Order: sequence, then C-alpha cells, then structure tokens
Amino acid sequence: LIQGLEKLREVPCVTVDGHRMPLWVNTGLFADVARSLDRGAEGVGLYRTEVPFMVQDRFPSEKEQQATYREQLEAFHPLPVTMRTLDIGGDKALTYFPIKEDNPFLGWRGIRVTLDHPEIFLVQVRAMLKASQGLNNLRIMLPMISSVYEVEEALHLIHRAHSEICDEGFDVPMPPVGVMIEVPAAVYQARELVQMVDFLSVGTNDLTQYLLAVDRNNPRVADIYHSLHPAVLQALMKIATACRDAGKPMSVCGEMAGDPAAAVLLMAMGCDVLSMNATNLPKVKWLLRQIRLSDARALLNEALEIDNPFLVQSTLHMALRNMG
Ligand code: PEP
Ligand code: MG
Repeated sequence: LIQGLEKLREVPCVTVDGHRMPLWVNTGLFADVARSLDRGAEGVGLYRTEVPFMVQDRFPSEKEQQATYREQLEAFHPLPVTMRTLDIGGDKALTYFPIKEDNPFLGWRGIRVTLDHPEIFLVQVRAMLKASQGLNNLRIMLPMISSVYEVEEALHLIHRAHSEICDEGFDVPMPPVGVMIEVPAAVYQARELVQMVDFLSVGTNDLTQYLLAVDRNNPRVADIYHSLHPAVLQALMKIATACRDAGKPMSVCGEMAGDPAAAVLLMAMGCDVLSMNATNLPKVKWLLRQIRLSDARALLNEALEIDNPFLVQSTLHMALRNMG
C-alpha cells in the first residue's frame, strides 16, 4: 500500500476522461510542510495563521510573523500558499487575548476582530507581504466574511499595508486576495463578493455549522452535522454558479474536500481547487483517478434530487463502489 501511495505522489490528479483536479493542502504547523510535499500537494489552499499565534504567550511581532510566513512560502515555493488572516474567536482562543461571550460562534470572530483592531491586521498583512518578496507565491484570504462592507474595509487595509511596505523599499506585487464563504449571508452575496476579489474559498466546516445551526464541536448534535445535507449542497451550487459566471476560481478548504465521496461531487460542481488535510490527499487522488467527470456529473444530479443527507451518502457510496 505504501509503495502504491508513493507512486500516487508522482502522478497528477486526472480523471479517466482527462479532467485535471488540483489537490492542495491545509497547513498550520511547520510539521505540515513535509507531509504535504510528501503526498504531492500542488499548493496550500489554507494556511491557518492563528496556529503560530496559539503556540505563543503574546502577539508575535511583525518580524517574528515575517520569519514564520517566509518559512511557509519558501518551503512550498513555487507552489501558491494561501494565507488566511487571523481567525480567532469561536473555537480558536488566544490565552493572551481572552474573549468571553455567551455565543462565541455568533460573536467576535475572524475578520470582525481584526477590523476592530486594524493594528493587528496591518501588522499581519505587512509581515505576509514582506515575507513574499522575491517569491511571489502568496495569496491572502479573509475569514468569516458576512458582508460586502467587511471586504471593502479589509481590501482598503491590505492596499494600505502594501503601499507602506513599498514606500519602505520592498518590491512586492499585490497578491491575489480571496474571501472565505462560510456564513450563509455570504452564500447569498456570492455574486457581489466574487466581483471584489480574485477567488472564493468555501469553508464547509463553518458553512455546515451555520446553515444547519449545528455546533461543529458538540458531540450531542454530531449526528445531525452533515456536509452532504441537501441545504449545504444547494449552497455550494449557488457559490459555484456565481464563480463560473464571474470567471473566477472557486476552492473548497473545509474537511468536506478531504472526503473522497464528497470530493467527487465538488469536482462535478466545477470546483477549481480542493484543499484538504494532507492525510486525506492520497485517498481523494486515488478515487478521482478511478472515475469519469461525466459520471461524477450524473452522480451530482442524482444527489441533488435527494432530500435526506443519509440517503445522499449511501447513494454516493453505492454508486462509487459500482464504478470500481
Ligand atoms: C472552515 O470553516 O471550513 C474552515 C476551513 O476554516 P476553519 O476550520 O479553520 O474554521
Ligand atoms: Mg472556518
């Protein structure tokens, strides 16, 4: 099996009928780099910058952040690395920046925190931009967006950080900027949001949680947390259509992309990048290389007609087993 997986690293992710599906990875710790490259990752679709913040006992300085980001960008160069701006709050806590709320998942989270503290945001973006000098494989992504206004504000700050570091003598192009779609409001605004940025990336972990009103970490309701729920599939279709109409790429970087059966549906929807935990990458690649895009599309059409998440899952598994 190990030998089989090793061979798999060398071959591209192409379906039997020739459709190319780029498989990227999600990273956070430096240890993720080696295992990602080992499994043949073609880029980083989500670098969780809060991870290096969580292992410290104070906010890392601009210089420290620059060094950490440089390590990531260099390790994957020339592959693209998508750095998400700080996504704290909800389930991600910093000991030195406590947030106490009754409903943390509906509270001060992600972009809401950093727009209220532009000094944190600016330092982080400046560090990312400086780290990318000479490499130019940086992409920036904004978490927990629920309105067009937040994107306007964030873009304004990114441009400001960029002109500041250019004035200081750095020679860095503006990186592509993307928005995470992980709040239902953003699904309904996907058409407007995609116009403002270079790509959309769906965070299916939070999108499932918020669409179904099911806490992603509560074991008591874990059996009704379903990324294959018809409502989630319809939301994904809406985002895919918005991206296709705008001619901009759509990625998925939630856990769903690392579930081989779900990845078949996401590919059929027209996703341009699937980004996952490195552990799941070989399984996804193996399955996508066994099937045809045309069969995946037929399966998607079938799945979209089903009104029950359990039935979607069993239909998928049965059909995939029959395909080999
Ligand atoms: C998501 O919500 O799907 C996501 C990728 O981000 P995180 O899991 O870090 O919230
Ligand atoms: Mg999220």
